[in-house]
Amino acid sequence: MEKLFELVALETKRQNEGLELIASENFTSKKVRALAGSVLTNKYAEGYPGRRYYGGCHYIDEIEGTAIELAKKLFNAKYANVQPHSGSSANMIAYASVLELGDSILTLSLDEGGHLTHGSPVNFSSKHYKVTHYGLKDDGTIDYEALREIALKLKSKLILAGFSAYPFIIDFARIGKIAKEVGAYFMVDMAHIAGLIAGGYHPSPFPYADIVTSTTHKTLRGPRGGIILTNSEEIIKKVNFTCFPGMQGGPLENIIGAKAQSFYEALQPEFKEYIKRVVENTKVASETLRALGAEASETETHLFLLNTKKSYGITGKDAEALLETIKITTNKNMLPKDDERPNTTSGLRLGFAAVTTRGLTEVNAAETARIIHEFLSKKITKEEAMIRVNKIVDTLQAIDSL
Ligand SMILES: *Cc1c(COP(=O)(O)O)cnc(C)c1O
Repeated sequence: MEKLFELVALETKRQNEGLELIASENFTSKKVRALAGSVLTNKYAEGYPGRRYYGGCHYIDEIEGTAIELAKKLFNAKYANVQPHSGSSANMIAYASVLELGDSILTLSLDEGGHLTHGSPVNFSSKHYKVTHYGLKDDGTIDYEALREIALKLKSKLILAGFSAYPFIIDFARIGKIAKEVGAYFMVDMAHIAGLIAGGYHPSPFPYADIVTSTTHKTLRGPRGGIILTNSEEIIKKVNFTCFPGMQGGPLENIIGAKAQSFYEALQPEFKEYIKRVVENTKVASETLRALGAEASETETHLFLLNTKKSYGITGKDAEALLETIKITTNKNMLPKDDERPNTTSGLRLGFAAVTTRGLTEVNAAETARIIHEFLSKKITKEEAMIRVNKIVDTLQAIDSL
């Protein structure tokens, strides 16, 4: 259908012409896209390598086996399941693998940086499990002491760490110790920081975590999908059985092939270098905003939060819409103790993993922050902002050439 390809061409143009600051996005390599769009999508392969319910899985087994081996190597884990269709599915499978319905889990709430699947009232997680939340201290970091007290009091069955809008390093060793003390499973959802962990810029959840879930499409720069890792033979057996036949049918082997390629890419020295630049660019942008007087959080990762209500007197929703008019793509995000609703919010989450893949320099990361600040505080017009955005975009690599 011609119309669909015209729309893909328009979307390609949109991605090329803008500054992509959505912290959960990235630009995949040509090889990752080729595998995701390959004939592997034609194949049914219910089951696992060597144990399939369909014939003709000879090559598929080798592809999925390669993905498993590379995932284990990349994250230093003993076992991996690469079949979850998404990060949310991975979490659903992980919970169901180690918990009974109604068991208690302890997580960070959505408005403080958690994810929908971490017990949001509108999500299955809060309907299937008894969810309690720990919180952040005034400086925006996890209140580990309170976390320990709640966990001990409630005898939580599972403690979860790993978030969607948390700009600081997570102390996995500390939470792991608390989980041991409580007798809880320690689950890490590294969806956002998988690339940082792979690149060596965030401590690994192993050996502290019992079970680790992730997306593959955020900082890790793979295809849209999920994975589950563990060092426990008992847990991987449960995970494999819960994933198939428990919750999913045929795996997306085209996506699994693309995952394998992205793990391979993340094992190369250039990836470490890339993650280093991501962290540097993010830091420079947040520092620049603070130096200009904006209320931006500090950062140790690929993202930070900008309080647009305090900085510019506008909601996150309005800031997102305004920035879109100058081709800077962001997303509104709840801030800690936000009094606005989730579809309005008091601020933005800004991330530099995607633009850095296209080669954004530190100088241009700072310039991006200045454009955002001057435009949202109405010091420059849309036309003036656009000229400066275009100048940066002109220095970036085209997404189809990556
Ligand atoms: C993005 C994210 C997910 C969900 O991933 P999807 O692939 O969108 O389902 C889960 N957990 C965290 C912490 C995330 O940031």
